[in-house]
Amino acid sequence: MRIILFGSPGVGKGTQAKILSTQLSIPHISTGDILREAVIQQTSLGMKAKEIMDAGELVPDEVMVGIIKDRLSNPDCHKGFILDGFPRTIKQAEALNKLFIELRINDFFLISLEVNEDEIIRRLTNRRACKVCNNIFNYHDIEGSDTCPSCGSVNSFYHRDDDREDVIRKRLSVFQSTTKPVLEYFADKQYVIRIDALETIDNVTATIVKRLTELKVN
Ligand code: AMP
Repeated sequence: MRIILFGSPGVGKGTQAKILSTQLSIPHISTGDILREAVIQQTSLGMKAKEIMDAGELVPDEVMVGIIKDRLSNPDCHKGFILDGFPRTIKQAEALNKLFIELRINDFFLISLEVNEDEIIRRLTNRRACKVCNNIFNYHDIEGSDTCPSCGSVNSFYHRDDDREDVIRKRLSVFQSTTKPVLEYFADKQYVIRIDALETIDNVTATIVKRLTELKVN
């Protein structure tokens, strides 16, 4: 199964993508995680990307398209994948469309996770990431603990530089101006599964699975 998980920063794409990746046994491809790993490894990509990410802006399309072309050509993607954080611009959407044609991919699901902006700001300012497993947690859920509940690493929590309120506002404005049109681009060609992502994590997963099952059957 091939899935594009779409939605604004903080809507829960990464959380849902990780759960679905395990349930469906398909790779989770997060362009944000790929870039953050490059920053940690201090590769030339990472060094270029860090400043852009810290400012809440977007890494150039040609760089991102190159990353996705390489990644989707990997044999582990043959039976499916979940894209999280790509495409984020119309140019990226067009490039992905072209790549799907080249790879003879004509069936994919487009899932849009939707939450209001106040809740997004609340979630992003309160979240902490684990630098080892990349899982994201609500600050209040891990308060007082130094051990990651997902991977057991100690002292691995950090507040992402791009989860500061000024950067969050920038990221949300980039989403509205540049990324949201991607949904309209695909909605012309593809049915969009719209999900209310204000629900609990488990409920959102259950709704996604239910909608996917209904669509596969019909
Ligand atoms: P994310 O973890 O998906 O919120 O991504 C974190 C940051 O990585 C974004 O704010 C961008 O600076 C950069 N990034 C991730 N995916 C893309 C993309 N498809 N195009 C451009 N920049 C991206």
